[in-house]
Amino acid sequence: MGKMRAARLHEPGKPFQIDEIDIPEPRPQDVLVKVKMCGIIPNMNAIVSGKYWHHLPPMPAVIGLDAAGVVARAPKARLDVREGDRVYVNPFLNCGQCYYCRSHTPMLCSDAALRGYFGFTPRGAKLLEDYPIGGLSEYLTASPQHLVKLPPEVSFEQGARFGYLGTSFAALRRASAGAGSWIAIHGITGTLGVGAVLLAMAMGVTRILGWGRNRNVLTQLRTMAPNRIDTLALGDGGLKEWVRERTDGVGVDVLLDCTGRGGPAAPVAEAVDCLRRGGVMINIGALAEPLALNPTQFMTGALQYRGSNWFTNAEAALMADMVRVGALDLSPLKPRAYPLEQVNQALSDIKERSGGFQNFVVTPE
Ligand SMILES: [Zn+2]
Repeated sequence: MGKMRAARLHEPGKPFQIDEIDIPEPRPQDVLVKVKMCGIIPNMNAIVSGKYWHHLPPMPAVIGLDAAGVVARAPKARLDVREGDRVYVNPFLNCGQCYYCRSHTPMLCSDAALRGYFGFTPRGAKLLEDYPIGGLSEYLTASPQHLVKLPPEVSFEQGARFGYLGTSFAALRRASAGAGSWIAIHGITGTLGVGAVLLAMAMGVTRILGWGRNRNVLTQLRTMAPNRIDTLALGDGGLKEWVRERTDGVGVDVLLDCTGRGGPAAPVAEAVDCLRRGGVMINIGALAEPLALNPTQFMTGALQYRGSNWFTNAEAALMADMVRVGALDLSPLKPRAYPLEQVNQALSDIKERSGGFQNFVVTPE
């Protein structure tokens, strides 16, 4: 095989280097994917800093979480994956052997890792060795079970956003959000929040409320569906009263916590008061400090607080199909593309980006 370019992290906290390395040889049942776009998100700066709990792959590491591309080589025996297929490569890796994988709950795998990113525990290292190439690279190898076929209606830029869209989608499904639901989104202006709004609209959610800090993005969100979406700038009023006014005095069925990294816990704790009795709060954000919850409030109100981590390939396929038929409109996401050589610039620019409608992608070609 020949050579390819890849952005590699040689030391946590240092800029990426563009290196020429061997094009990886797929394992017998795996495929080779030519990467068209790889999504990046603000949190990537924090992950590759090495300052947090994430277990980074061995250095130098080809980073890159969300890749979309074209199958360049597939084993002859495969009938379901063909060369030329447009695909999203789901970076979630599970071991297939632990208690959870054996119990058909791979999303709970105790050794899980996100390819090109980190392991959830030190035991994720083995999976990161099996699939060492992330999306900031011209090629990567993947097991067919990690591929999600993208119809022509899903652009590669949109496919490279599937990781964060899927995270919001799985959380909304976990909360049984749909027609008739009232939901509120804490951190509605960010990557997860904006994605959650687009998906909630596609899922038929009746009322979508949310708050954040970026007033321009709040306005943009309301403009998409003024009768369904309402937003509040954090600090402009009490959350509980504002939500009650918009839900017949009842409160929302679902509260989605999409707190960005470094966000404070106090407004999240305040947001609990926005739930109706029997409501569910789902955490997909990056709140890093302890959250003060009142157990009596959870007992008497029969409230739930739960986490949701990533999404299944089946859920990614559902999203692709929703785009294909026009149910999910991703056109409000505006791509901002960088060549591979400018990946460090992209990661710097994304710190100053103006909210979750911007879709930062790197094009390794
Ligand atoms: Zn497992």
